[in-house]
Amino acid sequence: MIDFNIPPFTGKELEYVKQAVDAHKICGDGQFTKKCNAWLEQHFHAQKVLLTTSGSSALDMAALLCGIQPGDEVILPSFTFSSTANAFVLAGAALVFVDIRPDTMNIDETKIESAITQKTKVIVPVHYAGVACEMDTIMDIARRYGLKVVEDAAQGVMSYYKGRALGTIGDFGCYSFHETKNYSMGEGGALVINDCNYNDAAEILREKGTNRSKFFRGQVDKYTWVDFGDSYLPSDMNAAYLLAQLEVAEEINQNRLETWNAYYKAFHPLEEKGIIELPTIPKDCVHNAHMFYIKLSCLEERTRFINFMREREIWCVFHYVPLHSAPAGLKFGRFQGQDNWTTKESERLVRLPLYYNLTKENREFVIKSVKEFFGEI
Ligand SMILES: *Cc1c(COP(=O)(O)O)cnc(C)c1O
Repeated sequence: MIDFNIPPFTGKELEYVKQAVDAHKICGDGQFTKKCNAWLEQHFHAQKVLLTTSGSSALDMAALLCGIQPGDEVILPSFTFSSTANAFVLAGAALVFVDIRPDTMNIDETKIESAITQKTKVIVPVHYAGVACEMDTIMDIARRYGLKVVEDAAQGVMSYYKGRALGTIGDFGCYSFHETKNYSMGEGGALVINDCNYNDAAEILREKGTNRSKFFRGQVDKYTWVDFGDSYLPSDMNAAYLLAQLEVAEEINQNRLETWNAYYKAFHPLEEKGIIELPTIPKDCVHNAHMFYIKLSCLEERTRFINFMREREIWCVFHYVPLHSAPAGLKFGRFQGQDNWTTKESERLVRLPLYYNLTKENREFVIKSVKEFFGEI
């Protein structure tokens, strides 16, 4: 059997978790959390990074820090995970979905401007598959209209746009360290804060509305409840698990890229013949091999494909059901403009198994099976 995903495990995780336990420090913001924050800040040249309990909670924090008020509008793609939308709905915003580009499956930056109204506050580009959105255009629009940009970089850890790490370009960036992502702590995430004016507010929001972080740094002599907040700190045990992976991030990245490149090379002839479509990586983007997908001709062919692979015990999955047609999407949002690609492309896309240390043997079996399905062997 070939799983769709196996969470990364590199060897030092349990040793580090034990160290956290032995240090009698398993709540949040212990030494491992601090090391993870520092690692992310240094490697991605980020002004400030705070580990959170999930990618979703990093998005929640970003929405609140943007000062979303009931009635505000947020522009986002419909082709994304529910968390991208939830964060802003919880803060009281209405969702305005715009279409994606078929080449990267990312928000179509040329459709954003016509979705802006008096109520628009935030644009949320989602870097699908760890391939960057067209950030120069998006940042230019945001600046011209005075909007905030929250990057959903849940899939984009170790990806770059024009040399800049994803998550560090907008006002805020949100990473996920869920077990399905490239680097994992089971459940977890991080908020990247790119404007230092938000550092204090973010710490307070994350620490139950208290100024406890300042207290521990000796900047105030007592700590107290200063604003609304919640608890977005992960346990240091989880951070310990993540640190082990960040320390070998380049190795994990190379390993995933090797699988990705092998798939691409093997399926390129099928694309040449017009049988399938493969992902596009624009020239300004360095990606992290978060996923490998192919696009088939239609929903019916995709269903046959998934069943065919399942008979060989190879697990392939599809996503997303576009948010604008989901029950909550109908309730909380509207689609601006034409749905030229979102629905059509989401019905054709299927993801192949890709995880750290997928064996060469299994990879070759996946490749052979895909070719067999198309009668190209
Ligand atoms: C995984 C993911 C999230 C949510 O991350 P969690 O850590 O699971 O909460 C948000 N947005 C996108 C695009 C994701 O892929």
